Amino acid sequence: MKTATKCLLLVPLLLLIFSLAAQPPVQVYTGPVEFDGNRAYGLLKVLASNYRGRVVGSRACRKSAEWIAKYFESLGLRTLIDEFDAPGFGGTLVTAYNVYAVKEGREDAYIVLIAHHDIVPRTIEGANDNGGGVAVLMELARVFAHRDTRLGIVFLSTDAEETGLHGAERFLEVFGGDIVAAISIDMCTWKDHEGVALYAFFYPPAAFSDLGILLLFAEAGKLDDTTSVHDIALSVLSARLLFIFAGTDSMPFAKRGVPAVGITDYPMYPYWHRAQDTIDKISPGSLQEVGVLVERVVMSIDKGYMLRLGDQYLFVGDRAFYGPFVYASWAALTLTAFLEVWERKRAGGSLRAAAKLFLVSEAIVAVSFAVAVLIAVYFTTILPVIIVGSAVLAIAFSLVSRNLFATVDSDTLKIAALLPSLAVYSLGLVNPTTALLLLATHAYVCVLAKPRGDGRLSYAVRVLTPMVSLLVPVALLAAACVVMSPAWIDRFIASMLTYGLKREPVLVTLILALATLPATATALVTCLVARKEDH
Ligand SMILES: [Zn+2]
Repeated sequence: MKTATKCLLLVPLLLLIFSLAAQPPVQVYTGPVEFDGNRAYGLLKVLASNYRGRVVGSRACRKSAEWIAKYFESLGLRTLIDEFDAPGFGGTLVTAYNVYAVKEGREDAYIVLIAHHDIVPRTIEGANDNGGGVAVLMELARVFAHRDTRLGIVFLSTDAEETGLHGAERFLEVFGGDIVAAISIDMCTWKDHEGVALYAFFYPPAAFSDLGILLLFAEAGKLDDTTSVHDIALSVLSARLLFIFAGTDSMPFAKRGVPAVGITDYPMYPYWHRAQDTIDKISPGSLQEVGVLVERVVMSIDKGYMLRLGDQYLFVGDRAFYGPFVYASWAALTLTAFLEVWERKRAGGSLRAAAKLFLVSEAIVAVSFAVAVLIAVYFTTILPVIIVGSAVLAIAFSLVSRNLFATVDSDTLKIAALLPSLAVYSLGLVNPTTALLLLATHAYVCVLAKPRGDGRLSYAVRVLTPMVSLLVPVALLAAACVVMSPAWIDRFIASMLTYGLKREPVLVTLILALATLPATATALVTCLVARKEDH
């Protein structure tokens, strides 16, 4: 590679450093707030004790909707109960009830605040999922009912969230107004939480919320009277990789291009969808901090502080790499790849072999990913993507690699394989999971590349190790799915991700060790055999 081409590779790096240093200016409302955690706690007490078992379609659920509507009306807000059919837990359609109250602003546009009032059958009180959210929503309605605001505010309590965000979808079908932003307050009032995390994305097909609303929450979370916002980098990354384990009502809004975010406990609430989700896990103080956070964000949006920065971004800590920087680094990487290919052609390199290889690997990736996504959408869980994706890739590559890869030198291969995948990733053109698979697959291609003069068994080590390390955890997961329910596995991975090494260092290390053990053993044995062969 020529020095000039190498220098070009520095461009994305410099852009990254520059964009992280020069963040967009984020302004937050710091004026007086009125949210009262004790009032919210009083409302939660009524909801958790008088409306137990409010599963969609039940009498308790309808009664709770009526109670919320009465409260909104008592504040003098225009209130509607919207009756509609939604899937229940038994699989048949049941009657569901959305409640929403509208507070008009000076302009004909709205901020929608959402909290679902329905619960899952296993829960009884549903105190934190999502009694706390509903209590915060109701208290916010009192706070804003008579405040002079530029934008209108809709206080939306949804039904049938737990069976697939049907209440939010229904609201978007019937509400005709212009929506500026949407915030879902969902399972975020646990008294022992360290703060909140954000859901900023995704509803099949993958859609990401505007960066502006995330930065607003991050900034508001830094104020003393609010709860802090944690791990945006991790939540954005896991969403980009399709590691989404739970839904919340902001997602249908994000799908329609509305800046939307859901707030939830950080770390994850340990009593999620359990009978122990009771009112003793919540305090007036936790309701207060979450309520004030949302009040400040709503005021900031109302004052026009929310920027529109697009949906192409990644976080490093709480700083974002976004928009033009993403596109510029994509351009730099693509140009580098082209220059490299051009240089090779002039030097008489085997361009045809590299191109052929590149096309084949892209086709394999595209097909296996398409199959995995189709299955994932059908089963609405991430597991098929992992299982089908990696299995198809491993098999396809081991079939193709035999004669094709032997004809290309490994340098050409790396350039043909890695650079375009980096380019695709930074452009964010594809679903970000594709990007992960592309990167992983191309790294795999590089491992498979047979350097000239390599012994047959050392080549086998390179082929077998990644394959086994890929297939063993997948096989373990598949076996676990047969024994346990996929939902349980999803939740297990979710809690591993959120608690991770911080909370369960021994357990996580053990799992990682177990997962890599077969691969390490394969590598060792093959190495030993290869050594014998050499002598
Ligand atoms: Zn919930």
